[in-house]
Amino acid sequence: MASLVKKKVVVTAAGQGIGKASALAFAAAGATVLATDINEAALESLAEGAGSASIQTAKLNVLDGDEVQSVIQAFGDVDVLFNCAGVVHGGTVLDMDDKDLDFAFELNVRAMMRTIRAVLPGMIARGDGSIINMASVASSTKGVPNRCAYTVTKAAVIGLTKSVAADYVTQGIRCNAICPGTVESPSLQERMRAQGDYDTARAAFIARQPMGRLGTPEEIADLAVYLAGATYTSGQAYAIDGGWTI
Ligand code: NAD
Repeated sequence: MASLVKKKVVVTAAGQGIGKASALAFAAAGATVLATDINEAALESLAEGAGSASIQTAKLNVLDGDEVQSVIQAFGDVDVLFNCAGVVHGGTVLDMDDKDLDFAFELNVRAMMRTIRAVLPGMIARGDGSIINMASVASSTKGVPNRCAYTVTKAAVIGLTKSVAADYVTQGIRCNAICPGTVESPSLQERMRAQGDYDTARAAFIARQPMGRLGTPEEIADLAVYLAGATYTSGQAYAIDGGWTI
């Protein structure tokens, strides 16, 4: 695996959950990290982890195209982009709100295209770059009940990943997607609490993972670090899901 020492890495949605664990893991692997999130206060906790000396933070709302350009340009040449921002909506195709679908496309798909456009010309000019997009096994990989907008848009993330990979594979660019199963994160905690009976909701989420437990953000971060330095793979959707899709 190629070293990440002296590599510059941008992570979106790094204030909590998988994005935060990944920012810390990239820094621990020797990279210089720009950890971004719409929630500036959440980014403050990144000062505490191993390797935090090489983490810069910046407020970045990935829905704001101008902010995406200015924050990323200010950081300089980007070697690795980890597009982690995403939102989960509940609902089937019948009860899903069109507004939710539009918002899911904005945050889960179009925002990734904005950040990719901000880093790709520089990567092409230098002939090297790794883009990692956060998808899910709830996507073209697997249908999951009551997750229509989420599954549709995460499938689009895999399509985007393959498209970028195909267009730039001969120019030193790699683009891969991560497809987690169910991962212990603040927003998952919210989804479990929102169901009313927390213990039953938690047991149901655990039951769908054959390994008998939820994943940790750190386990997903390990895969992100691997893909940043994995120089012979592109256009792939990597499931990391406790055996859900065996
Ligand atoms: P999370 O949902 O707990 O946190 C999301 C972070 O995104 C927050 O810090 C929030 O402030 C930030 N954010 C929200 N809107 C933003 C915006 N417009 N611009 C920038 N940042 C914004 O984190 P998580 O559960 O680890 O999920 C991270 C990613 O992993 C998402 O794309 C999610 O779909 C994906 N994922 C999560 C799971 C899981 O079980 N947790 C499973 C599969 C995929």
